[in-house]
Amino acid sequence: MKRVILLGPPGAGKGTQAELLCRRYSIPHISTGNILREAVAAQSELGLLAKSYMDRGDLVPDEVVIALVEERLGEDDCTTHGFLLDGFPRTVEQAQELQRLLQKISLPLTHVVDIQVEDSVLLDRIEARGKESGRSDDSREVAANRLSVFWKQTAPVVEFYQKQGTLQGVDGLGTIDEVHGRIAAIVDASPS
Ligand code: AMP
Repeated sequence: MKRVILLGPPGAGKGTQAELLCRRYSIPHISTGNILREAVAAQSELGLLAKSYMDRGDLVPDEVVIALVEERLGEDDCTTHGFLLDGFPRTVEQAQELQRLLQKISLPLTHVVDIQVEDSVLLDRIEARGKESGRSDDSREVAANRLSVFWKQTAPVVEFYQKQGTLQGVDGLGTIDEVHGRIAAIVDASPS
């Protein structure tokens, strides 16, 4: 059973790669960004709370995101088939909570993959995506803030998994298929 997290800066291609991987392994795709965007569109209580953070490119508070992931991971499809987390954890606190939670339900992560792309490429990629998809936080100013938030708050998450010896880095430059091939080569293999 695959229980995977996909790390990488905004614009690294996490969403696209996550979809391909979830199809390959028939596992649910848990994207905190997608869940939050749906909540914003539905104007739910969660959405109203999250919107201002997302509009600025800041992180939604840990306790909010952790609660929604905890709820989602407790659903049957995750416990029986595994899962892929995309966009979570984004802070060390989230990573620690995730670890506690997975220990509690005896379902440890099997793979931690970090998609690596240089900063200089990311802003252009995010801006191009914004023009195509109309994602409001893909404007150049907000994207620049998302990148700086990534370096401040999320880069330590990469170190967290590096220290545990579970992190596997992948070059995120190349075609979608090439990057997918690199990630799949890692995730196909059982964890060591
Ligand atoms: P994404 O689609 O993963 O780039 O997420 C879009 C936005 O949702 C981010 O810029 C944050 O405002 C919020 N968000 C998504 N995942 C998280 C998370 N794990 N922690 C805090 N905020 C998040």
